[in-house]
Amino acid sequence: MTQIRLVRTKAEIHELHDGVRNWGGLVGLVPTMGYLHAGHLSLMTAARSRCDHVTATLFVNPLQFAPTEDLASYPRDLDRDLGLAEQAGVDVMFAPDVEEMYPDGSPLTTVSVAQLDARWEGVSRPGHFAGVATVVAKLFSIAGPCLAFFGEKDYQQLQVVRRMAADLDLRVEVVGCPTVREPDGLALSSRNVYLERDERRAALCLRRALDTAIAAVERGERRAEAVTATMVAVVGAEPLAELDYAALVDPATLEPATTPLQPGRELRLLITARVGRPRLLDNAAVTVPV
Ligand code: AMP
Repeated sequence: MTQIRLVRTKAEIHELHDGVRNWGGLVGLVPTMGYLHAGHLSLMTAARSRCDHVTATLFVNPLQFAPTEDLASYPRDLDRDLGLAEQAGVDVMFAPDVEEMYPDGSPLTTVSVAQLDARWEGVSRPGHFAGVATVVAKLFSIAGPCLAFFGEKDYQQLQVVRRMAADLDLRVEVVGCPTVREPDGLALSSRNVYLERDERRAALCLRRALDTAIAAVERGERRAEAVTATMVAVVGAEPLAELDYAALVDPATLEPATTPLQPGRELRLLITARVGRPRLLDNAAVTVPV
């Protein structure tokens, strides 16, 4: 195992990645906000298996947090993250400070991915996806041509990033990776550390709601509203959870699916609920049986 290298400047990343591409190597990029868990590490392992050089990034991006959100208290542990990333085969950890990423303060140029950024998370967190798309566009520009690995766990974010890279002809192939879960089904998230004991148990209602909805579709339910209603009911039965939204959507446009659901169509279930302090997100694919 080679030792991971901590890099703080954009200029060093340019040089390192140009060097890799100059000998014909493929660069893999794994953007994160740190406080790594097995979900992040699965992206790093995927990058390691497909690329010659892997750079993970660690940047808690102020642009994607609203003033009322948890930017200041977002969990951080650089030393632990470096150790875990090294074990996952990461060559370089790019951990710039805010000044390095935004030397002139908030950027005047921002990226917004219309329509995709307006629904679901976009309603609850206005401006969030513009912050995400802007920092990811910067990271893609800093990294140069590469494969970039993102989790399906943040499904809307993955679609926003995919569309942004395609619309702007960025020379980055966006690779989506499956959600990593606890053995009992809870999707791993850095924010799970905020969950108290009872809340940790209550948080399972998200996965349960998705499973119930999948079962309904597989049993032949063709009414989109009825599928959504099953998710609302499951979360509604959990007193410690407060549903934000539950939806059945087209996997690319994220527009709500319409009744009757077409046989053979692949759709995506999205669900978000607040459980105690954190808002938890989950999603799953479902195919309408023929
Ligand atoms: P974050 O640090 O929360 O911004 O996440 C960084 C990347 O890790 C994003 O692409 C996330 O979608 C991905 N990720 C977060 N949680 C998981 C998970 N449980 N399984 C797979 N990928 C994840």
